[in-house]
Amino acid sequence: MSFDVDALRAQFPILDQQVNGKPLVYLDNGATTHKPNAVIDAIAGYYRHDNSNVHRGAHTLSDRATARFEQARESVRGFINARSTDEVIWTKGTTEAINLVAFSWGRDNLKQGDRVLVSGMEHHANIVPWQILSAQTGAELVPIPVDDRGQLDMAAFTDLLDERVKLVSIVHVSNALGTVNPVEAIIEKAHAVGAKVMIDGAQAVAHWPLDMQALDCDFYAFSAHKMYGPMGIGVLYGKRELLEAMPPFMGGGEMIETVSFEGTTYNTLPFKFEPGTPNVAGAIGTGAAIKFINSLDRDAVAAHEADVLNYAVSRAKDYPGLTLVGDADHRAGVMGFVLEGAHPADLGMLLDQQGVAVRTGNHCAMPIMTRFGLTGTVRASFALYNTRADVDALFAGLDKAKTFLM
Ligand code: PLP
Repeated sequence: MSFDVDALRAQFPILDQQVNGKPLVYLDNGATTHKPNAVIDAIAGYYRHDNSNVHRGAHTLSDRATARFEQARESVRGFINARSTDEVIWTKGTTEAINLVAFSWGRDNLKQGDRVLVSGMEHHANIVPWQILSAQTGAELVPIPVDDRGQLDMAAFTDLLDERVKLVSIVHVSNALGTVNPVEAIIEKAHAVGAKVMIDGAQAVAHWPLDMQALDCDFYAFSAHKMYGPMGIGVLYGKRELLEAMPPFMGGGEMIETVSFEGTTYNTLPFKFEPGTPNVAGAIGTGAAIKFINSLDRDAVAAHEADVLNYAVSRAKDYPGLTLVGDADHRAGVMGFVLEGAHPADLGMLLDQQGVAVRTGNHCAMPIMTRFGLTGTVRASFALYNTRADVDALFAGLDKAKTFLM
């Protein structure tokens, strides 16, 4: 299998449009990726033919919807190489998955004097739930420092590891810096002191194959919309023995076995954590996104993505007045930068006028912005349909923006 970027782009109808009179150059994939026809059609097809509530199989449509919903869960299981579909919990996304672990596992397992380690480069989704939990339990949230190139200080991490640490919750790929954290080493070191490990995989999942059994993390969270799937759905992977022992996060229909006013017993995994009507179309769309990704030569995709990102970084390093924010040895998908004399928000607006979509601001990662003495950056983030020509358009857009600003 080879990699034909033009053929691939043709599968994403949204890319074929003009924005502000210019061909769209979409470099905001860290926020969300676009959806191929296969995903759009799967969702429309579900609503056209199978729409029904699931797990209430009184009729054929409900049976079909349930079968497709559970097939999608099996697709996720295979995609991340979990042992069982019992370990695949549907959530609204990464944010809900982390909150689920914080307020189910965390409330049960953390107490005064315990510590949760996160990195200094976390998205707010992997900071705020732990802060809320700390206020309730007395556990302490401790950030692992980040060096000037945006890499985790592994020596400091090792120093912080002791018997007080009950959980290390760490981002796999930083959405602000693009840094790929050495999660394998982190998991091994954390486990050696008896801590559990949660990985925020929101920015990793689209870029390379994941293998939960090889990784041996305790929890892993991701969102479908950042891997060519729909919004409003994501996954919490958790090791079965942990999920079995955890109390429900939310109560309602579907997550129970029996209910009486004397007491309630809960459903088995994974349903114990899925109260209420789930996002069936979202699950089916996620299954279609996985099928789409699996139809590609993933090594070729990774090589293409690395080529485009490396090209962008090398052009950035040559660009007068530009400073990269985050320049890790191992990076993926994201390039953050500031330009001397230009506010990121102004640059974003001027780039948009050129048809170039980037994100500006703090990227829901204020602590790492503060670490670098900034309030925000411009972020170009890349997906498999981006090309070197898109990078050229970004820098041509910056040239033009400079004529307005300087
Ligand atoms: N973690 C990281 C690293 C992210 O980049 C994001 C979204 O940008 C999230 C968590 C939150 O994901 P969601 O908004 O899909 O729940």
